[in-house]
Amino acid sequence: MHNKVLIIGSGPAGLTAALYAARANLEPLVVRGLQPGGLIATTSEVENYPGFVDGVGGYELAENMEKQAARFGAQSMDTLITGIDASQRPFVLSTDSGETLTADTIIVSTGASPRKLGVPGEDRLANRGVSYCATCDGFFFKKKRVVVVGGGNSALDEGLFLTRYVDELIIVHRRDELRADPILQERAFSNEKMRFIWDSTVDEVLGDEKVSGVKLRNLKTGETSELAVEGVFPYIGHLPNSKVFAGLLTLDENGYIVADARQRTNIEGIFAAGDVVDHVYRQAITAAGEGCKAAMEATWYLSEQEHATKKAQSETEEVSSPALGQW
Ligand SMILES: Cc1cc2nc3c(=O)[nH]c(=O)nc-3n(C[C@H](O)[C@H](O)[C@H](O)COP(=O)(O)OP(=O)(O)OC[C@H]3O[C@@H](n4cnc5c(N)ncnc54)[C@H](O)[C@@H]3O)c2cc1C
Repeated sequence: MHNKVLIIGSGPAGLTAALYAARANLEPLVVRGLQPGGLIATTSEVENYPGFVDGVGGYELAENMEKQAARFGAQSMDTLITGIDASQRPFVLSTDSGETLTADTIIVSTGASPRKLGVPGEDRLANRGVSYCATCDGFFFKKKRVVVVGGGNSALDEGLFLTRYVDELIIVHRRDELRADPILQERAFSNEKMRFIWDSTVDEVLGDEKVSGVKLRNLKTGETSELAVEGVFPYIGHLPNSKVFAGLLTLDENGYIVADARQRTNIEGIFAAGDVVDHVYRQAITAAGEGCKAAMEATWYLSEQEHATKKAQSETEEVSSPALGQW
């Protein structure tokens, strides 16, 4: 299957790119991956996406973005991209379903996933008390006691948000000071519902059907203890979904794809947008903005290629059929 524009990822970045490419009559293909709609589709309420006075459900927002792009001719496909061969044009992409796709341009918008603790009980109790989304799940922890693991901006930001619901929130951090911005620290330290357990890690999430506690280890003394909680929110960073592009696209030291202000990567014809590039803002609106830029760049790139091909063809024709007077 050949496409002029192939978009990898169906979050706000990919779907906005699809809308712009579709309106440029390029009939883009969106490869949706394992999370159709992207991270925003897992969020219950989005209150900071412009245009929605009363907020909008995350799933509804993603679904509308996809329908809007489809209205102008964007197609979608449910598979995972497993590799890109950029040694030839068009690009050749392999998928986990065994199909081979080709494309003249590619927009990579594969996002970034929350980093896991990697401890026993975490996967088993996911969505049964373990949550990576305070915004989505905070409501379900009304009047409960929860831990947030981490000491950066997201840990405090999401922790402060959770205090709207919970009775007590304990931040478990592996160091004896926080990395978060001073303003967030100030708010956290003055919040009556928050307390801190320093120099400690969560070694295990406990519970049968749902979370009943965590096993803690003090990194200085080695001492272990159990803490009864009903929720665990790990906020220990994000992992960009860029593994599949390593060796082809330039990545920074944390694995984010390096793209310039015009979303161009080190490979001509491949653009990157959204959270797989952006480790600073990580918002639906910024991802959408980058998706828009990437699609406009891809459109201009294709026009330039077309123009260059036509010019080369007419020059060849001129050489092979000289003007009459030259005979
Ligand atoms: C809990 C939580 C709450 C949030 N709340 C808000 C909010 O209120 N407001 C806000 O603006 N932002 C919010 N965000 C952030 C927002 O969701 C992200 O910034 C945004 O979704 C990033 O969009 P993206 O398109 O770059 O990537 P993502 O949304 O992460 O989408 C990535 C896409 O790539 C696909 N993919 C990955 N690898 C492959 C592959 N190999 N092949 C094919 N497809 C692949 C996935 O299936 C997915 O469709 C929240 C995030 C979280 C986690």
